Amino acid sequence: MITLTDLLLLLVGYTLCALGITIGFHRMLTHKGFDAPDWIRAFFLICGSMALQGPAIKWAATHIQHHANSDEEEDPHSPVKSFFHGHVGWILDDFQADVPRYAAPLLKDKLVVFISNTFFLWVALGLLIPYLIGGWYGLLWGGAVRIFLNHHVTWAVNSVCHTYGGREFVTTDASRNNFLIGLLAMGEGWHNNHHAFPRSANHGMHWWQIDPSAYIIGVLEKVGLMKNVVRIAPERLAKRRLKADLAEERDVLPGVVLEGSSAAAALATAVAEVVSQTTAPQTQL
Ligand SMILES: [Zn+2]
Ligand SMILES: [Zn+2]
Repeated sequence: MITLTDLLLLLVGYTLCALGITIGFHRMLTHKGFDAPDWIRAFFLICGSMALQGPAIKWAATHIQHHANSDEEEDPHSPVKSFFHGHVGWILDDFQADVPRYAAPLLKDKLVVFISNTFFLWVALGLLIPYLIGGWYGLLWGGAVRIFLNHHVTWAVNSVCHTYGGREFVTTDASRNNFLIGLLAMGEGWHNNHHAFPRSANHGMHWWQIDPSAYIIGVLEKVGLMKNVVRIAPERLAKRRLKADLAEERDVLPGVVLEGSSAAAALATAVAEVVSQTTAPQTQL
């Protein structure tokens, strides 16, 4: 039976490792969404390493390759090939990250290189801590089960969030916004938003798009521990909203639902653009 200690080891371990992936590996290291002092960077990169998703630099190289080729042939994990391939098949196929091609600048960052090169030390620490606190059952829940959940939720961003959910912004890939994965993956499920604005430290673009990673970044920014946080101006958001082809978009993949307010806003933007395009030549004359 699971004890309170086991449950806490699972919940706290899951949350810290998930935040290490989302804030550390993804928004900070890969997309340069904010700057932070070395001890903050080290904390999130170590937490991310404990999630056993590969060394930080290889993770970043794989993810940059995904953004550069989303849902095309060179995408490491597109569910367009098959849902299973997008989820875990790409790892079983022994995909190898191309660091020199996609993440060479990170090799100049001594802290990142150190934490990346000592990856297995952090994985071992992530297993030792729950063992020391909760014995073998602590290791089971705070180690094995925690890693299992961290893996599948991150992989679901690649598989589920390129297959099921709504699209608010125009992108060249099949990225989707998915509420459930948004919750479980600390905000990473707002994946259409992310593909439209990869550098944004916020993935949730509406108050109801729950994004715990963005809230934590906001708090750390307020207390002066993060700066140069990248956020997208409302005008830029409006420009990228889906315009005319709503029906066509719905046919791309199953499960596409556009929220009423977004659809209304998109139509309003489309009308405004048509009006400005038709009136612009006249004003020039
Ligand atoms: Zn993606
Ligand atoms: Zn990304």
